[in-house]
Amino acid sequence: MGRKVVLMLFHNDLRINDNATLLKAAEIASTNNGRLLCVYVSDLADTLTKQTNKTPYYFDEMGRSRKQFLVESLVDLNESLQRLSNRLLYLPTDDLSTDKLPSTIDAFTQLCQLIEQHAVTDIYISQTADYHQNQAYKVLQHQFPQISWHRYSNNTLFAVMSSTKDLPKSFTQFRKQIEANHDLLNAENNLTITPMPKSLPPLPDDMIGNSVFFYKAQTFDKHAQHERCFKGGESSAISHLNSYFKSEAPSTYKVTRNDLDNWKHSTKFSAWLANGSLSVKVLLNRLRQYECEVIANDSTYWIWFELLWREYFYWYALTHLQKLFWFRGISQDAPSTCFNKERLEQWQTGTTSYPIVNACMHQLKATGYMSNRGRQIVASCFIHELGLDWRYGASYFEQHLIDYDVASNWGNWQYLAGVGADPRGCRQFNLKKQTQQYDPNGDFINKWQGNKISE
Ligand SMILES: Cc1cc2nc3c(=O)[nH]c(=O)nc-3n(C[C@H](O)[C@H](O)[C@H](O)COP(=O)(O)OP(=O)(O)OC[C@H]3O[C@@H](n4cnc5c(N)ncnc54)[C@H](O)[C@@H]3O)c2cc1C
Repeated sequence: MGRKVVLMLFHNDLRINDNATLLKAAEIASTNNGRLLCVYVSDLADTLTKQTNKTPYYFDEMGRSRKQFLVESLVDLNESLQRLSNRLLYLPTDDLSTDKLPSTIDAFTQLCQLIEQHAVTDIYISQTADYHQNQAYKVLQHQFPQISWHRYSNNTLFAVMSSTKDLPKSFTQFRKQIEANHDLLNAENNLTITPMPKSLPPLPDDMIGNSVFFYKAQTFDKHAQHERCFKGGESSAISHLNSYFKSEAPSTYKVTRNDLDNWKHSTKFSAWLANGSLSVKVLLNRLRQYECEVIANDSTYWIWFELLWREYFYWYALTHLQKLFWFRGISQDAPSTCFNKERLEQWQTGTTSYPIVNACMHQLKATGYMSNRGRQIVASCFIHELGLDWRYGASYFEQHLIDYDVASNWGNWQYLAGVGADPRGCRQFNLKKQTQQYDPNGDFINKWQGNKISE
Protein backbone atom coordinates (compact mmCIF):
# COMPACT_ATOMS: atom_id res chain seq x y z
CA MET A 1 0.00 0.00 0.00
CA GLY A 2 1.34 3.43 -0.98
CA ARG A 3 1.46 6.42 1.27
CA LYS A 4 -1.98 7.85 2.07
CA VAL A 5 -2.77 11.54 1.85
CA VAL A 6 -5.96 11.95 3.83
CA LEU A 7 -8.23 14.97 3.86
CA MET A 8 -10.51 15.47 6.83
CA LEU A 9 -13.25 17.87 5.79
CA PHE A 10 -14.74 19.49 8.89
CA HIS A 11 -18.28 20.84 8.75
CA ASN A 12 -20.61 20.42 11.73
CA ASP A 13 -18.13 18.39 13.78
CA LEU A 14 -15.77 21.11 15.03
CA ARG A 15 -14.23 19.13 17.87
CA ILE A 16 -11.57 16.55 18.60
CA ASN A 17 -13.33 14.61 21.35
CA ASP A 18 -15.91 12.00 20.29
CA ASN A 19 -15.14 12.68 16.66
CA ALA A 20 -15.16 9.28 14.95
CA THR A 21 -14.40 10.84 11.56
CA LEU A 22 -11.23 12.53 12.78
CA LEU A 23 -10.04 9.44 14.67
CA LYS A 24 -10.54 7.19 11.62
CA ALA A 25 -8.89 9.73 9.31
CA ALA A 26 -5.90 9.90 11.66
CA GLU A 27 -5.65 6.12 11.91
CA ILE A 28 -5.66 5.53 8.17
CA ALA A 29 -3.20 8.38 7.54
CA SER A 30 -0.81 6.98 10.14
CA THR A 31 -0.32 3.79 8.19
CA ASN A 32 2.75 3.94 5.94
CA ASN A 33 3.80 7.32 7.24
CA GLY A 34 0.89 9.10 5.53
CA ARG A 35 -0.16 12.74 5.68
CA LEU A 36 -3.27 14.45 7.02
CA LEU A 37 -4.91 17.67 5.83
CA CYS A 38 -7.59 19.07 8.19
CA VAL A 39 -9.73 21.49 6.22
CA TYR A 40 -12.71 23.71 6.92
CA VAL A 41 -14.49 25.19 3.90
CA SER A 42 -16.75 28.03 4.93
CA ASP A 43 -19.21 28.15 2.09
CA LEU A 44 -18.83 24.97 0.12
CA ALA A 45 -22.56 24.48 -0.29
CA ASP A 46 -23.23 28.16 -0.99
CA THR A 47 -20.72 28.45 -3.81
CA LEU A 48 -22.10 25.39 -5.51
CA THR A 49 -25.79 25.13 -4.92
CA LYS A 50 -27.42 28.08 -3.26
CA GLN A 51 -25.85 30.65 -5.52
CA THR A 52 -26.48 28.81 -8.74
CA ASN A 53 -30.14 28.18 -7.91
CA LYS A 54 -30.38 31.44 -6.02
CA THR A 55 -33.68 31.62 -4.17
CA PRO A 56 -35.31 35.00 -3.58
CA TYR A 57 -35.64 34.36 0.15
CA TYR A 58 -31.95 33.67 0.66
CA PHE A 59 -30.07 36.29 2.75
CA ASP A 60 -26.47 35.43 2.07
CA GLU A 61 -24.46 37.45 4.55
CA MET A 62 -23.88 35.77 7.89
CA GLY A 63 -24.89 37.91 10.89
CA ARG A 64 -22.19 39.30 13.15
CA SER A 65 -22.80 37.10 16.20
CA ARG A 66 -23.07 33.92 14.15
CA LYS A 67 -19.86 34.73 12.35
CA GLN A 68 -18.08 35.50 15.59
CA PHE A 69 -19.21 32.23 17.16
CA LEU A 70 -17.96 30.35 14.13
CA VAL A 71 -14.60 32.14 14.14
CA GLU A 72 -14.11 31.33 17.82
CA SER A 73 -15.02 27.71 17.15
CA LEU A 74 -12.44 27.46 14.36
CA VAL A 75 -9.73 29.17 16.38
CA ASP A 76 -10.32 26.72 19.21
CA LEU A 77 -10.31 23.75 16.85
CA ASN A 78 -7.07 24.96 15.29
CA GLU A 79 -5.46 25.21 18.73
CA SER A 80 -6.52 21.65 19.55
CA LEU A 81 -5.17 20.37 16.24
CA GLN A 82 -1.89 22.18 16.85
CA ARG A 83 -1.55 20.47 20.22
CA LEU A 84 -1.82 17.21 18.27
CA SER A 85 0.85 18.36 15.77
CA ASN A 86 -1.40 19.37 12.88
CA ARG A 87 -3.28 22.55 11.94
CA LEU A 88 -6.55 23.71 10.45
CA LEU A 89 -6.59 24.90 6.86
CA TYR A 90 -9.30 27.39 6.12
CA LEU A 91 -10.85 27.92 2.68
CA PRO A 92 -11.46 30.31 1.01
CA THR A 93 -8.23 31.94 2.03
CA ASP A 94 -9.62 35.38 2.89
CA ASP A 95 -9.78 36.52 6.48
CA LEU A 96 -13.19 35.84 8.03
CA SER A 97 -12.97 38.68 10.52
CA THR A 98 -12.63 41.49 8.03
CA ASP A 99 -14.90 42.76 5.30
CA LYS A 100 -12.25 42.14 2.66
CA LEU A 101 -13.53 41.21 -0.76
CA PRO A 102 -13.83 37.47 -1.16
CA SER A 103 -11.07 35.65 -2.93
CA THR A 104 -11.49 35.63 -6.70
CA ILE A 105 -11.28 31.85 -6.70
CA ASP A 106 -14.24 30.38 -4.87
CA ALA A 107 -13.92 27.92 -2.02
CA PHE A 108 -14.93 24.90 -4.06
CA THR A 109 -12.26 25.56 -6.69
CA GLN A 110 -9.65 26.11 -3.99
CA LEU A 111 -10.60 22.82 -2.40
CA CYS A 112 -10.30 21.03 -5.75
CA GLN A 113 -6.83 22.58 -6.23
CA LEU A 114 -5.75 21.45 -2.79
CA ILE A 115 -6.93 17.90 -3.50
CA GLU A 116 -5.08 17.81 -6.82
CA GLN A 117 -1.87 19.41 -5.56
CA HIS A 118 -1.49 16.91 -2.77
CA ALA A 119 -2.85 13.89 -4.63
CA VAL A 120 -5.34 13.18 -1.87
CA THR A 121 -6.19 9.49 -1.63
CA ASP A 122 -8.97 9.50 0.99
CA ILE A 123 -11.59 11.99 2.15
CA TYR A 124 -13.26 11.75 5.56
CA ILE A 125 -16.58 13.52 6.22
CA SER A 126 -19.13 13.39 9.03
CA GLN A 127 -22.75 12.67 8.18
CA THR A 128 -24.98 15.70 7.93
CA ALA A 129 -28.67 16.37 7.32
CA ASP A 130 -27.76 19.54 5.39
CA TYR A 131 -29.19 18.95 1.93
CA HIS A 132 -27.05 21.58 0.16
CA GLN A 133 -23.87 20.40 1.85
CA ASN A 134 -24.62 16.81 0.78
CA GLN A 135 -25.20 18.00 -2.78
CA ALA A 136 -21.81 19.71 -2.72
CA TYR A 137 -20.15 16.48 -1.50
CA LYS A 138 -21.79 14.62 -4.40
CA VAL A 139 -20.33 17.08 -6.92
CA LEU A 140 -16.91 16.76 -5.31
CA GLN A 141 -17.14 12.98 -5.30
CA HIS A 142 -18.10 13.01 -8.97
CA GLN A 143 -15.09 15.22 -9.72
CA PHE A 144 -12.66 12.85 -7.96
CA PRO A 145 -13.90 9.30 -8.60
CA GLN A 146 -10.46 7.82 -7.77
CA ILE A 147 -10.59 9.01 -4.15
CA SER A 148 -11.92 6.75 -1.37
CA TRP A 149 -14.75 8.41 0.54
CA HIS A 150 -15.51 7.65 4.18
CA ARG A 151 -18.47 8.98 6.16
CA TYR A 152 -19.18 8.61 9.88
CA SER A 153 -22.06 9.53 12.10
CA ASN A 154 -21.03 12.20 14.58
CA ASN A 155 -23.96 14.47 15.16
CA THR A 156 -26.83 12.35 16.45
CA LEU A 157 -27.67 9.94 19.24
CA PHE A 158 -28.44 7.13 16.80
CA ALA A 159 -26.08 6.28 13.99
CA VAL A 160 -28.86 5.20 11.63
CA MET A 161 -32.61 5.08 11.39
CA SER A 162 -33.63 1.72 9.99
CA SER A 163 -34.94 3.58 6.97
CA THR A 164 -35.86 7.20 6.45
CA LYS A 165 -39.03 5.88 4.76
CA ASP A 166 -40.07 4.62 8.17
CA LEU A 167 -39.73 7.96 9.90
CA PRO A 168 -42.95 8.44 11.89
CA LYS A 169 -45.16 11.28 10.69
CA SER A 170 -45.26 12.97 14.07
CA PHE A 171 -42.74 13.67 16.79
CA THR A 172 -44.87 11.87 19.40
CA GLN A 173 -44.85 8.62 17.41
CA PHE A 174 -41.10 9.01 16.87
CA ARG A 175 -40.44 9.57 20.58
CA LYS A 176 -42.54 6.55 21.58
CA GLN A 177 -40.77 4.38 19.06
CA ILE A 178 -37.34 5.48 20.28
CA GLU A 179 -38.22 5.10 23.94
CA ALA A 180 -39.61 1.61 23.32
CA ASN A 181 -36.74 0.33 21.18
CA HIS A 182 -33.62 1.93 22.59
CA ASP A 183 -32.17 1.73 26.03
CA LEU A 184 -31.28 5.39 26.17
CA LEU A 185 -33.59 6.22 29.06
CA ASN A 186 -31.62 4.03 31.41
CA ALA A 187 -29.38 6.24 33.51
CA GLU A 188 -26.86 3.41 33.96
CA ASN A 189 -26.35 3.04 30.21
CA ASN A 190 -23.56 5.23 28.93
CA LEU A 191 -23.23 5.85 25.20
CA THR A 192 -19.86 4.91 23.80
CA ILE A 193 -17.63 7.91 23.25
CA THR A 194 -14.89 7.86 20.62
CA PRO A 195 -11.53 8.68 22.26
CA MET A 196 -9.56 11.73 21.22
CA PRO A 197 -6.58 10.95 18.93
CA LYS A 198 -3.32 10.97 20.94
CA SER A 199 -1.53 12.71 18.10
CA LEU A 200 -2.17 13.38 14.43
CA PRO A 201 -0.13 12.51 11.36
CA PRO A 202 1.70 15.53 9.93
CA LEU A 203 0.69 17.81 7.08
CA PRO A 204 2.19 17.14 3.65
CA ASP A 205 5.84 18.30 3.70
CA ASP A 206 5.40 21.19 1.26
CA MET A 207 2.58 22.67 3.38
CA ILE A 208 4.64 23.07 6.52
CA GLY A 209 6.24 26.36 5.57
CA ASN A 210 3.22 27.61 3.66
CA SER A 211 1.23 29.87 5.92
CA VAL A 212 -1.31 31.00 3.34
CA PHE A 213 -3.89 28.39 4.13
CA PHE A 214 -3.44 28.25 7.85
CA TYR A 215 -6.22 29.47 10.00
CA LYS A 216 -5.02 32.54 11.86
CA ALA A 217 -6.30 33.64 15.26
CA GLN A 218 -8.81 36.42 14.79
CA THR A 219 -9.20 39.70 16.62
CA PHE A 220 -12.95 39.61 16.33
CA ASP A 221 -13.61 39.71 20.06
CA LYS A 222 -12.74 43.33 20.57
CA HIS A 223 -15.63 44.31 18.29
CA ALA A 224 -18.20 42.62 20.47
CA GLN A 225 -20.69 45.23 21.55
CA HIS A 226 -22.32 43.35 24.37
CA GLU A 227 -21.36 41.07 27.16
CA ARG A 228 -21.57 37.58 25.73
CA CYS A 229 -22.18 34.31 27.44
CA PHE A 230 -21.75 32.23 24.30
CA LYS A 231 -18.18 31.71 23.22
CA GLY A 232 -17.55 29.40 20.31
CA GLY A 233 -15.34 26.32 20.50
CA GLU A 234 -15.04 22.93 22.13
CA SER A 235 -13.25 24.31 25.22
CA SER A 236 -16.12 26.72 25.96
CA ALA A 237 -18.64 23.96 25.27
CA ILE A 238 -16.98 21.70 27.84
CA SER A 239 -16.74 24.43 30.42
CA HIS A 240 -20.44 25.26 29.92
CA LEU A 241 -21.27 21.55 30.22
CA ASN A 242 -19.41 21.36 33.53
CA SER A 243 -20.90 24.50 34.95
CA TYR A 244 -24.47 23.65 33.86
CA PHE A 245 -24.42 20.21 35.45
CA LYS A 246 -22.73 21.48 38.60
CA SER A 247 -25.66 23.84 39.09
CA GLU A 248 -29.23 23.03 40.13
CA ALA A 249 -30.60 24.28 36.81
CA PRO A 250 -31.19 20.81 35.28
CA SER A 251 -33.52 19.87 38.12
CA THR A 252 -35.86 22.81 37.39
CA TYR A 253 -35.52 22.95 33.60
CA LYS A 254 -39.12 22.00 32.85
CA VAL A 255 -40.56 24.91 34.81
CA THR A 256 -38.06 27.53 33.68
CA ARG A 257 -37.41 26.59 30.02
CA ASN A 258 -39.96 29.01 28.59
CA ASP A 259 -38.32 32.06 30.14
CA LEU A 260 -37.50 34.65 27.51
CA ASP A 261 -34.17 35.88 28.80
CA ASN A 262 -32.36 34.03 31.51
CA TRP A 263 -29.06 32.22 30.96
CA LYS A 264 -29.74 29.27 33.30
CA HIS A 265 -33.44 28.84 32.47
CA SER A 266 -32.77 26.63 29.50
CA THR A 267 -29.64 24.63 28.82
CA LYS A 268 -28.07 26.90 26.12
CA PHE A 269 -26.28 23.95 24.49
CA SER A 270 -27.80 24.53 21.05
CA ALA A 271 -25.04 26.65 19.49
CA TRP A 272 -22.26 24.20 20.38
CA LEU A 273 -24.41 21.25 19.28
CA ALA A 274 -25.19 22.96 15.98
CA ASN A 275 -21.62 23.30 14.78
CA GLY A 276 -20.55 20.14 16.51
CA SER A 277 -18.14 21.62 19.02
CA LEU A 278 -20.19 19.62 21.54
CA SER A 279 -21.10 15.98 20.97
CA VAL A 280 -24.74 15.21 21.74
CA LYS A 281 -23.65 11.81 23.10
CA VAL A 282 -21.30 13.45 25.59
CA LEU A 283 -24.16 15.71 26.61
CA LEU A 284 -26.59 12.82 27.09
CA ASN A 285 -24.06 10.85 29.17
CA ARG A 286 -23.61 13.90 31.37
CA LEU A 287 -27.36 14.24 31.81
CA ARG A 288 -27.61 10.57 32.84
CA GLN A 289 -24.72 11.07 35.27
CA TYR A 290 -26.61 13.99 36.83
CA GLU A 291 -29.68 11.76 37.12
CA CYS A 292 -27.64 9.08 38.90
CA GLU A 293 -25.74 11.40 41.21
CA VAL A 294 -28.13 14.28 41.88
CA ILE A 295 -31.75 13.80 40.82
CA ALA A 296 -33.84 12.28 38.06
CA ASN A 297 -37.16 14.09 37.71
CA ASP A 298 -39.58 15.58 35.14
CA SER A 299 -37.10 18.31 34.34
CA THR A 300 -34.19 16.04 33.55
CA TYR A 301 -36.54 13.89 31.46
CA TRP A 302 -37.57 17.02 29.57
CA ILE A 303 -34.01 17.82 28.54
CA TRP A 304 -33.90 14.39 26.92
CA PHE A 305 -37.33 15.09 25.38
CA GLU A 306 -36.03 18.29 23.75
CA LEU A 307 -32.90 16.56 22.50
CA LEU A 308 -35.21 14.09 20.80
CA TRP A 309 -36.82 16.99 18.92
CA ARG A 310 -33.40 17.81 17.57
CA GLU A 311 -32.97 14.18 16.59
CA TYR A 312 -36.40 14.05 14.96
CA PHE A 313 -35.71 17.08 12.78
CA TYR A 314 -32.36 15.61 11.70
CA TRP A 315 -34.09 12.51 10.31
CA TYR A 316 -36.94 14.63 9.01
CA ALA A 317 -34.47 16.72 6.94
CA LEU A 318 -32.78 13.60 5.61
CA THR A 319 -36.16 12.15 4.68
CA HIS A 320 -37.64 15.16 2.94
CA LEU A 321 -34.47 16.56 1.31
CA GLN A 322 -35.21 19.70 -0.74
CA LYS A 323 -38.85 19.72 0.41
CA LEU A 324 -37.49 21.25 3.60
CA PHE A 325 -37.19 24.51 1.64
CA TRP A 326 -40.44 24.32 -0.35
CA PHE A 327 -43.17 26.87 0.34
CA ARG A 328 -45.72 24.07 0.75
CA GLY A 329 -43.20 21.95 2.64
CA ILE A 330 -44.33 18.33 2.86
CA SER A 331 -48.02 19.18 2.63
CA GLN A 332 -50.29 19.20 -0.42
CA ASP A 333 -51.30 22.86 -0.27
CA ALA A 334 -49.29 26.06 -0.21
CA PRO A 335 -50.07 28.57 2.57
CA SER A 336 -52.00 31.72 1.64
CA THR A 337 -49.18 34.03 2.83
CA CYS A 338 -46.85 36.00 0.53
CA PHE A 339 -43.77 38.22 0.32
CA ASN A 340 -44.16 41.86 1.43
CA LYS A 341 -41.03 44.00 1.69
CA GLU A 342 -42.36 46.54 4.16
CA ARG A 343 -43.79 44.03 6.62
CA LEU A 344 -40.66 41.89 6.34
CA GLU A 345 -38.49 44.89 7.23
CA GLN A 346 -40.69 45.77 10.19
CA TRP A 347 -40.25 42.27 11.53
CA GLN A 348 -36.49 42.16 10.88
CA THR A 349 -35.85 45.53 12.50
CA GLY A 350 -38.21 44.92 15.41
CA THR A 351 -40.56 47.77 14.50
CA THR A 352 -43.89 45.92 14.26
CA SER A 353 -46.85 46.93 16.39
CA TYR A 354 -46.15 44.00 18.75
CA PRO A 355 -43.67 44.97 21.51
CA ILE A 356 -42.95 41.37 22.50
CA VAL A 357 -42.00 40.52 18.92
CA ASN A 358 -39.85 43.64 18.59
CA ALA A 359 -38.01 42.84 21.83
CA CYS A 360 -37.24 39.30 20.65
CA MET A 361 -36.02 40.53 17.27
CA HIS A 362 -33.72 43.09 18.93
CA GLN A 363 -32.37 40.36 21.18
CA LEU A 364 -31.66 38.16 18.16
CA LYS A 365 -29.87 40.93 16.27
CA ALA A 366 -27.74 41.86 19.29
CA THR A 367 -26.83 38.39 20.55
CA GLY A 368 -27.57 35.83 17.83
CA TYR A 369 -29.77 33.97 20.32
CA MET A 370 -33.47 33.87 21.07
CA SER A 371 -35.31 31.54 23.47
CA ASN A 372 -37.51 28.79 22.08
CA ARG A 373 -40.60 30.64 23.33
CA GLY A 374 -39.39 33.82 21.61
CA ARG A 375 -38.82 31.93 18.35
CA GLN A 376 -42.34 30.53 18.46
CA ILE A 377 -43.83 33.96 19.15
CA VAL A 378 -41.97 35.81 16.37
CA ALA A 379 -42.53 33.00 13.85
CA SER A 380 -46.25 32.87 14.62
CA CYS A 381 -46.47 36.67 14.23
CA PHE A 382 -44.53 36.46 10.96
CA ILE A 383 -46.91 33.90 9.48
CA HIS A 384 -50.26 34.94 10.94
CA GLU A 385 -50.27 38.61 11.90
CA LEU A 386 -47.94 39.74 9.10
CA GLY A 387 -49.08 37.13 6.57
CA LEU A 388 -45.56 36.53 5.25
CA ASP A 389 -43.99 33.62 3.34
CA TRP A 390 -42.40 31.58 6.16
CA ARG A 391 -39.22 30.90 4.15
CA TYR A 392 -38.08 34.54 4.50
CA GLY A 393 -38.36 34.17 8.27
CA ALA A 394 -36.43 30.91 8.25
CA SER A 395 -33.77 32.45 6.06
CA TYR A 396 -33.42 35.46 8.35
CA PHE A 397 -32.97 33.07 11.29
CA GLU A 398 -30.35 31.21 9.25
CA GLN A 399 -28.44 34.44 8.82
CA HIS A 400 -28.45 35.41 12.50
CA LEU A 401 -28.84 32.44 14.85
CA ILE A 402 -25.57 31.34 16.43
CA ASP A 403 -27.17 27.91 16.82
CA TYR A 404 -28.36 27.79 13.22
CA ASP A 405 -28.96 24.20 12.26
CA VAL A 406 -30.52 23.45 8.92
CA ALA A 407 -32.80 20.67 10.14
CA SER A 408 -33.99 22.27 13.40
CA ASN A 409 -34.50 25.66 11.85
CA TRP A 410 -36.34 24.79 8.67
CA GLY A 411 -38.17 21.92 10.38
CA ASN A 412 -39.48 24.17 13.16
CA TRP A 413 -40.52 26.87 10.72
CA GLN A 414 -42.41 24.36 8.60
CA TYR A 415 -44.06 23.02 11.71
CA LEU A 416 -45.29 26.45 12.74
CA ALA A 417 -46.34 27.36 9.19
CA GLY A 418 -48.55 24.26 9.09
CA VAL A 419 -46.65 22.66 6.22
CA GLY A 420 -44.50 20.28 8.24
CA ALA A 421 -44.61 17.56 10.84
CA ASP A 422 -47.45 18.98 12.95
CA PRO A 423 -50.54 16.76 12.98
CA ARG A 424 -52.58 19.69 14.39
CA GLY A 425 -51.79 21.96 11.43
CA CYS A 426 -51.04 25.67 11.64
CA ARG A 427 -50.40 27.04 15.15
CA GLN A 428 -51.16 30.65 15.97
CA PHE A 429 -50.02 32.15 19.26
CA ASN A 430 -52.13 34.84 20.93
CA LEU A 431 -49.52 37.57 21.29
CA LYS A 432 -51.36 39.43 24.03
CA LYS A 433 -51.71 36.30 26.14
CA GLN A 434 -48.10 35.32 25.51
CA THR A 435 -46.98 38.76 26.68
CA GLN A 436 -49.07 38.54 29.84
CA GLN A 437 -47.78 35.07 30.60
CA TYR A 438 -44.09 35.41 29.77
CA ASP A 439 -43.41 39.09 30.38
CA PRO A 440 -46.07 40.18 32.90
CA ASN A 441 -44.08 43.18 34.19
CA GLY A 442 -42.69 44.21 30.82
CA ASP A 443 -39.07 43.69 31.95
CA PHE A 444 -38.07 41.82 28.80
CA ILE A 445 -39.77 44.36 26.53
CA ASN A 446 -38.05 47.22 28.35
CA LYS A 447 -34.64 45.58 28.30
CA TRP A 448 -34.80 44.96 24.55
CA GLN A 449 -36.68 48.16 23.71
CA GLY A 450 -39.70 46.46 22.24
CA ASN A 451 -41.81 49.62 22.50
CA LYS A 452 -39.47 51.58 20.28
CA ILE A 453 -41.13 51.57 16.90
CA SER A 454 -38.32 53.07 14.84
CA GLU A 455 -34.67 52.01 15.15
C1 LIG B 1 -38.83 28.91 14.43
C2 LIG B 1 -37.79 28.14 15.19
C3 LIG B 1 -36.50 28.03 14.68
C4 LIG B 1 -35.51 27.28 15.36
N1 LIG B 1 -34.25 27.21 14.84
C5 LIG B 1 -33.31 26.44 15.48
C6 LIG B 1 -31.99 26.31 14.96
O1 LIG B 1 -31.64 26.83 13.90
N2 LIG B 1 -31.08 25.57 15.67
C7 LIG B 1 -31.43 24.95 16.84
O2 LIG B 1 -30.57 24.30 17.45
N3 LIG B 1 -32.67 25.04 17.34
C8 LIG B 1 -33.62 25.77 16.71
N4 LIG B 1 -34.87 25.87 17.24
C9 LIG B 1 -35.23 25.05 18.42
C10 LIG B 1 -35.06 25.74 19.79
O3 LIG B 1 -35.68 26.99 19.79
C11 LIG B 1 -33.59 25.89 20.20
O4 LIG B 1 -32.92 24.66 20.05
C12 LIG B 1 -33.47 26.31 21.67
O5 LIG B 1 -34.18 27.50 21.90
C13 LIG B 1 -32.01 26.51 22.01
O6 LIG B 1 -31.83 26.92 23.34
P1 LIG B 1 -31.35 25.88 24.43
O7 LIG B 1 -30.13 25.18 24.00
O8 LIG B 1 -31.31 26.60 25.73
O9 LIG B 1 -32.57 24.83 24.40
P2 LIG B 1 -33.13 23.87 25.54
O10 LIG B 1 -34.54 24.26 25.81
O11 LIG B 1 -32.25 23.82 26.69
O12 LIG B 1 -33.18 22.44 24.83
C14 LIG B 1 -32.08 21.51 24.91
C15 LIG B 1 -31.65 21.16 23.51
O13 LIG B 1 -32.69 20.47 22.84
C16 LIG B 1 -32.73 20.84 21.46
N5 LIG B 1 -34.03 21.47 21.17
C17 LIG B 1 -34.83 22.14 22.03
N6 LIG B 1 -35.97 22.52 21.41
C18 LIG B 1 -35.87 22.10 20.14
C19 LIG B 1 -36.72 22.19 19.00
N7 LIG B 1 -37.91 22.77 19.04
N8 LIG B 1 -36.29 21.67 17.84
C20 LIG B 1 -35.09 21.06 17.73
N9 LIG B 1 -34.25 20.93 18.78
C21 LIG B 1 -34.63 21.44 19.97
C22 LIG B 1 -31.58 21.81 21.26
O14 LIG B 1 -30.48 21.10 20.78
C23 LIG B 1 -31.33 22.36 22.65
O15 LIG B 1 -30.02 22.79 22.84
C24 LIG B 1 -35.86 26.63 16.58
C25 LIG B 1 -37.17 26.76 17.09
C26 LIG B 1 -38.12 27.51 16.41
C27 LIG B 1 -39.50 27.63 17.00
